[in-house]
Amino acid sequence: MTTEERNEQILDLYVAGETLTATIAAMFSVSPRQVQRIAKLAGMSRSREESNRILAEKKNYTGMKTPQVIIDARRLISDHDRKMTLQNFPECSVCGIKRFHGTRLEVIHNKVVCYRCIIKDIQL
Ligand SMILES: [Zn+2]
Repeated sequence: MTTEERNEQILDLYVAGETLTATIAAMFSVSPRQVQRIAKLAGMSRSREESNRILAEKKNYTGMKTPQVIIDARRLISDHDRKMTLQNFPECSVCGIKRFHGTRLEVIHNKVVCYRCIIKDIQL
């Protein structure tokens, strides 16, 4: 994937208005600031009201069994690839917590991240 293709996918998600900037950043392994810059350059910055609306909606997911971020992430990877990745990298790439140590691990854009870090990211 070229940088342009990546930026286009980032913009698609950003403009759709259903995914938090921090979540988009995690999906593409870039910083939230970078996502904002890409959107700004394209003239598509979110207003504060828009950001707050998305944040409020996402917060409702945290009480659910499977947060929307994880459902979305699973669509991007096959079950087999997901299991293989979790087997090969059995710890969170953000906080380092290991598998079966109080949280679940998930594959978000080829990176292993624990639920705690995912939820923290949603609430940023
Ligand atoms: Zn973690």
